[in-house]
Amino acid sequence: MSVLIVGSIALDDIKTPLAEHANLLGGSASYGAVSASFFSPVNLVGIVGSDFPKEHVELFEKRKVDLEGLQIVEGATFRWSGEYMWDMNTRETRSVALNVFEHFNPVLPESYKETPFVLLANIAPDLQHHVLDQVRLPRFVIADTMDLWINIAKPRLIELLARVHMLILNDSEARELTGETSLIKAGHKLRALGPQYVAVKKGEHGCLLFGNDGQFFSCPAYPLEDIHDPTGAGDTFAGGLAGYLAKNCGEKEVTFDDLKQAIIYGSVLASYNVEEFSLERLKKVDQAQIDERYQAFRRISQLS
Ligand code: AMP
Repeated sequence: MSVLIVGSIALDDIKTPLAEHANLLGGSASYGAVSASFFSPVNLVGIVGSDFPKEHVELFEKRKVDLEGLQIVEGATFRWSGEYMWDMNTRETRSVALNVFEHFNPVLPESYKETPFVLLANIAPDLQHHVLDQVRLPRFVIADTMDLWINIAKPRLIELLARVHMLILNDSEARELTGETSLIKAGHKLRALGPQYVAVKKGEHGCLLFGNDGQFFSCPAYPLEDIHDPTGAGDTFAGGLAGYLAKNCGEKEVTFDDLKQAIIYGSVLASYNVEEFSLERLKKVDQAQIDERYQAFRRISQLS
């Protein structure tokens, strides 16, 4: 089964305490699509400008990502620049240039409209709604978001929650959106707004999953010694999770146990992603390495 992914496709400038690189492939949909492609076919919906390097299109093609929904228009690609502090977790946005993204109207090709699994990666809630309006009877819809939309588009984001099966967000966003300091209370409160499942990411400390009837799972983080670029970890996590579900839950209902497995695979891909800048590590990772790290996740979370 395929997964439809809509989000940003960007050229990023990234500065960490140890290195700085410019004009990197970035964006929530880029990370999400490449990550999901390790598990299932991907239909990508996004926009880039005429300056978008051909090598990045070739990467999507190499990963067999369907590009019928990719709009390439005259103008400059969306640009984002961020700087990480010494903890490699705190991040400041240095600049944003919407460019062609400003007038993005995500129109789904006919062939995408029946995609059963949908990942609404991080973009404006209005665009996430617009994509969802065009999909016919999706089986499982996942939405990601960021603090920006909580600050400037909260009512539309709340409306979206009633339309999705799962929400993914990070700890500070969960606290901000609910006004709760406790992540457990925040998880329950977010579920009450619509999504059956809520995943709260805690950066280098793993992730919490909330489900029906008090179902709860705490996923550890892989103990990585060297993080080179945390950009896109969340998007890679969401893409891997969505791809795993599309691959394994095609004909059956998605259960809490499926989501636990999906969260581990999402975490595996995210842990690889931060080992190098941009999508460089995802370009090289292979199935054997994914399986190996999955087993490592099992080992570090086993009691006996
Ligand atoms: P993450 O590290 O998971 O928060 O995702 C980082 C990616 O999000 C970068 O590659 C950026 O290009 C992209 N990004 C940054 N700001 C926005 C925005 N306002 N809308 C959509 N994508 C964004």
